[in-house]
Amino acid sequence: MIREAFEKHFGFAPDAAVRAPGRVNLIGEHTDYNDGFVLPVAIDFQVVMAVRPRAGRQVRLYSANFERESAFSLDNIAPDRHEKWSDYVRGVALYLLEAGFSLGGMDAAIYGDVPIGSGLSSSAALEVAAATAFERLNGFRMDGAQKAKLCQKAENAFVGMNCGIMDQFISCLGQAEHALLIDCRSLGYEQVPLDLGGYRIVIGDTGKRRGLVDSEYNARRKECEEAAAFFAGLYPRVRALRDVTYEQYAKHADSLPSTVRKRAGHVVSENERVLRAVSALREGDLGAFGRLMDESHESLRDLYEVSCPELDVMVELARAVPGVPGSRMTGAGFGGCTVSLVSAESLDHFQKEVAAAYRARTGLEPKFYVCRACDGAGPIE
Ligand code: ADP
Ligand code: MG
Repeated sequence: MIREAFEKHFGFAPDAAVRAPGRVNLIGEHTDYNDGFVLPVAIDFQVVMAVRPRAGRQVRLYSANFERESAFSLDNIAPDRHEKWSDYVRGVALYLLEAGFSLGGMDAAIYGDVPIGSGLSSSAALEVAAATAFERLNGFRMDGAQKAKLCQKAENAFVGMNCGIMDQFISCLGQAEHALLIDCRSLGYEQVPLDLGGYRIVIGDTGKRRGLVDSEYNARRKECEEAAAFFAGLYPRVRALRDVTYEQYAKHADSLPSTVRKRAGHVVSENERVLRAVSALREGDLGAFGRLMDESHESLRDLYEVSCPELDVMVELARAVPGVPGSRMTGAGFGGCTVSLVSAESLDHFQKEVAAAYRARTGLEPKFYVCRACDGAGPIE
């Protein structure tokens, strides 16, 4: 499909195609900027790019989703005020050049089925697809972690969006049938076999657009820093909340102001939940895994206070369906998506029941995406 879109737009055939997936985080929310752990999977919703090298220094981009075009010269890369979507690719090109890779001109058609702006990271998928396209056409290969960092820099410094490393990391390094445990301090990672047996990962988009994110996000970060500083005064080895055990937290929590106490309680317990969730997966105990997802949601709702009525309603309805070991909000919060484990036999029932009840309770139209854990970015043969 993307090859046809390329040909239709440019008038000649592409000679290669690449893909990069979106992602969903199974557990480990608001732990990344506390140097903690996350456990995302790459999903079978992706951004694909059909490409062809072109003589000279021009890069011409066509987004089949937006039916828009944007072109730039590799010798003078600046943001495009009118075609903001192209900045994700421009930023990647700029930092590849800065890192010393030599790039030639390119024509590229882009199409993604990662829902845009729902929190499944179509932006990281676009950046990683672009980096993979430049690799493919210019004959170099980056290590996955290096590629992820470069793409994150494009989003942070060029697009101006202050995101963590998780999205680019999993889009580069995902493996089919695996979740990826990432240590956000060391950037060490581990592939964790995701043997879901008769269960599926179901993402539920609440249809509620994420509001409040920036101001609330900054407030949470400050509260976490305050908590970390408090514990550093007691335990000199503490550099971030990641270093505080639940035992230490429980012993001293009473001395913290109540809001900071709640925030720290979430982060400290969430980090431990991620590690317990990994053990549960290794033991094939999806019941335990699901309970940890549930606890994560409660903690995000009551302690971190980043949920919203729509997320809570969808999670509550999901859990009421038989054959659902766990359900939680995923992403930064205040809207966006939930993630649930759902038994294969219940899938139809789940989507119908939850959708109808959710619509009735909120007046919003939900969307469901049943997904598999798939491989990270690469060429499409
Ligand atoms: P999310 O990453 O949660 O989907 P963001 O707001 O971070 O949401 O990123 C969405 C932006 O990424 C879009 O507004 C657009 O600029 C860009 N983008 C994603 N997919 C495509 C695509 N297929 N074509 C063009 N731009 C895209
Ligand atoms: Mg994004």
